[in-house]
Amino acid sequence: MNIEKITLVQQAIVNFLENNQGNEVYTNLCSCGAVTMSTYGSSDEISFSQENAPFIKATNDMIMCNCNHCCNGWGVDVDEEDDEEDL
Ligand SMILES: [Zn+2]
Repeated sequence: MNIEKITLVQQAIVNFLENNQGNEVYTNLCSCGAVTMSTYGSSDEISFSQENAPFIKATNDMIMCNCNHCCNGWGVDVDEEDDEEDL
């Protein structure tokens, strides 16, 4: 467990929700264990490992096969410099 990443993710979620007030937010879980948080009202989205935000529950029962987090290495908690030692 990495407190720094949890803090980063929490901050990103707060910012995301603030930027998308009034929009319905939905979350999807991916088979890689990442959550993508999106809204119907904008193209804004954030992605992060669920272990860094265990309080976030997926709003969709369907589990995605892939997402930006695993395909593109894109996410709030993705550290491009040392993502190998993060497993
Ligand atoms: Zn994924």
